[in-house]
Amino acid sequence: MSHGLLDRRTCDRARIARDARFDGRFFTGVLTTRIYCRPTCPVKPARSRNVVFFPTAAAAERAGFRPCLRCRPETAPGTPAWHGAAASVSRARRLIERGFLDDAGTVDGLADTLGMTARHLRRLFLRHAGASPTAVATTRRVQRAKALIDETAMPMSAIAFAAGFTSIRRFNAAFRAVYRRPPSAVRRARRRPGGRGPSRQSAAETTAARQIRRAPLSILSATIAAPARKRHASAKAAP
Ligand SMILES: [Zn+2]
Repeated sequence: MSHGLLDRRTCDRARIARDARFDGRFFTGVLTTRIYCRPTCPVKPARSRNVVFFPTAAAAERAGFRPCLRCRPETAPGTPAWHGAAASVSRARRLIERGFLDDAGTVDGLADTLGMTARHLRRLFLRHAGASPTAVATTRRVQRAKALIDETAMPMSAIAFAAGFTSIRRFNAAFRAVYRRPPSAVRRARRRPGGRGPSRQSAAETTAARQIRRAPLSILSATIAAPARKRHASAKAAP
């Protein structure tokens, strides 16, 4: 599997050192737990022989790993490894980010826009992202939803549509497939005593939620997390 310029030894050293410079550049899958993490995960690092590395969250999910609830891969900054990819791949990624594949958009349509065949576009994605354009789009939708669950008190139905799903049923199915539990279970966990789940929806959160749909997650997290952090300045992050 391709990781841009990163090789296995570099990734392994980075995740054992919790090197923040590598955050977002690769993800670590732990074979014994089937969970994938950011290089900066606070959990005790697994043994080197028990880990594999992926260039994107979508690639880790495609291989059957679920996102860690501690280091929250959905909040990792950007995906710089993609910057080394062909310009057309970067452009495709930006279009997916803006929701090209969320509503009626198809991979054929995306390829058309980029002036290439769908087959070639899929091949480029597999090489650079380790997953198909459709898988990348699905991962991003679930990631947006997860961020809204964690950072706002929006009802689940509103979250589904704000994140780019066309129905609540599809949202539930996609979320369960990735997290192995329903969205409501993740929100309950956030609201445990000592957790930092929001108590009620503020106007700022509603505005932020409206912006989420087309915003890159890195920007989004900063936007939405700010008021929550102020209110719960002394609270520790829940696992
Ligand atoms: Zn983790």
